[in-house]
Amino acid sequence: MPRKRLIWQIYPPFLLTVLVAIGAVTWFFSQAINQFYIDQTRNDLEARARFMLPLVDGNLNPANTIPLDSLCKHLGRQTGTRLTIIDNKGVVLADSDENPSRMDNHADRPEIISALNGHIGVSTRYSHTLQQNMMYVAVPASLNGQIVGSIRAALPLAKIDQTLNIVLYQVLTSGLLIVLIAALVSLWLSRRISRPLEEMKRGADRFARGELDRRLPDFASEELGGLSEAMNQMAAQLDDRIRTVVRQHNEQEAVLASMIEGVFAIDKKEKIIRVNSAARELLGLDISAIGRKVHEVLRKPDLLNFIDRAQSSHERIEEDIILNLRGEERLLQSHGTPLRDARGREIGALIVFNDITHLKRLENIRQDFVANVSHELKTPITAIKGSVETLIGGAMDDEENALRFLEIISRQADRLNAIIEDLLALSRIEQDEEQAGIELRQAKLHDFLVTTLQACQIKARDKQVKLEMDCPEDLQSNINAPLFEQALVNLIDNAIKYSPEDGLVKITARQLSGEIVLQVQDWGSGIAREHLPRLFERFYRVDKARSRKLGGTGLGLAIVKHIVQAHHGKISVESAPGEGSIFTIQIPS
Ligand code: ADP
Repeated sequence: MPRKRLIWQIYPPFLLTVLVAIGAVTWFFSQAINQFYIDQTRNDLEARARFMLPLVDGNLNPANTIPLDSLCKHLGRQTGTRLTIIDNKGVVLADSDENPSRMDNHADRPEIISALNGHIGVSTRYSHTLQQNMMYVAVPASLNGQIVGSIRAALPLAKIDQTLNIVLYQVLTSGLLIVLIAALVSLWLSRRISRPLEEMKRGADRFARGELDRRLPDFASEELGGLSEAMNQMAAQLDDRIRTVVRQHNEQEAVLASMIEGVFAIDKKEKIIRVNSAARELLGLDISAIGRKVHEVLRKPDLLNFIDRAQSSHERIEEDIILNLRGEERLLQSHGTPLRDARGREIGALIVFNDITHLKRLENIRQDFVANVSHELKTPITAIKGSVETLIGGAMDDEENALRFLEIISRQADRLNAIIEDLLALSRIEQDEEQAGIELRQAKLHDFLVTTLQACQIKARDKQVKLEMDCPEDLQSNINAPLFEQALVNLIDNAIKYSPEDGLVKITARQLSGEIVLQVQDWGSGIAREHLPRLFERFYRVDKARSRKLGGTGLGLAIVKHIVQAHHGKISVESAPGEGSIFTIQIPS
């Protein structure tokens, strides 16, 4: 049903009531006046007829009616009334307006019948004599207790109606005026009632739109004033509560957003009700995931299984889940807890997961490292022990053999020494990195590279590898010369080691957008793609046997990486089997 404005609900019935009341009053009033006037006229006509009685004095002589007729005509003219005198047979003896001899017998007229029976006769009808509607009143005329005739007074109804119409017109115009005034007053009253309510409605609409800092005006009436006060209080409280809720929500959001752990909450129907930015980022979801079913937005069977279990198990569960996210394998340490409302009822589940891929990788590296160190140390020790035992077992007597075993012992001891020195170097750099950092000094890179290359010349010459250098003379950089030299020597040594005889190793240095970029390039064996991510791990070697044969410890690139990191720089490698390798160091200039 369409809603109407309050004023149109109040005003029309109000106006109708007023109209009906005034209409009824006017109608009754006009009826009363009508009746009153007709009664008055009737009484008046009766009085006029009675007034004639003493003049006639029962002397109704039908033989001589001339004096009676002239009296009638005279009095009729004087009073503006039609007067008729009739004897007890109904014969008209005198008439103010007509010649009585030409008039009918009036014995059948209702007023005359009543009068001749001793009553006052009243009749309103059409007069054929005067050809108009008339009111007749007849009174009996008696002589010595005998009714001898009747005297009748009459007035034309048109005259009565004319007077009545004037009165009724006045009554009606005043009625209409009153109606107009009443309509205006009721309109004013209706507006007076509806306006504060409309204002209240507008205020309530503003509250509904969230404009809770606006207030409703005060109203003079007790009810409306009280209502507006109550609504204002309600708005203030609501405003206060909403602010508190928003603040708490923002705090919660801030806490969730700054968590490294991914958090998401689902309801009983497995719809996502909350998901923080870490979870969105990790699982590749956007904010539109909120409100949707978890099965629609996540297509990871392992994670979905875990969520289902968290939903149904009613207690805290934990599992490490391996997920393939954006082509990369990630390890998620996941916790699922039932989500409860303030009354402790379960309303869903809360899933928190922590990406421990990196930790796991570090852990693996650590485990590998321990295993590798043991293995690397054990190999030369076994060789030394074997040689010593062989010597003790009699080989000492054979001078040639003894010398061979002693050479093995010496070589393996050198190897042990190399490994230990590299390990010590690594731990020293790591310590420096963690503590105050290494000492950096401004140095001319060109001069520095010349010295470094000299240190590698012997190995290069042994293998007839040509070392080439390309560095602008004025290039300066902040470096720790001994450490940086060690890093570069390691890279150049590797490049020589894995280059063919007569090969070329090129060292270039450039200044590029606020950075010094150093590259060591060779055209040697190159490295397969799958090894590149792990190349800078300790003891990681592409080909263990070949590395060992070439005197490598597997720690060279790990040392380079740590030295570069201590210089606040980065190291990267590009390589392809058979095409050679480029190791690139970037440090701040
Ligand atoms: P190593 O002491 O064995 O040389 P590194 O840490 O210096 O140990 O190098 C790790 C591995 O990376 C090496 O075993 C080798 O397989 C590979 N590598 C390093 N540099 C090169 C290069 N220039 N060309 C080909 N392979 C290389």
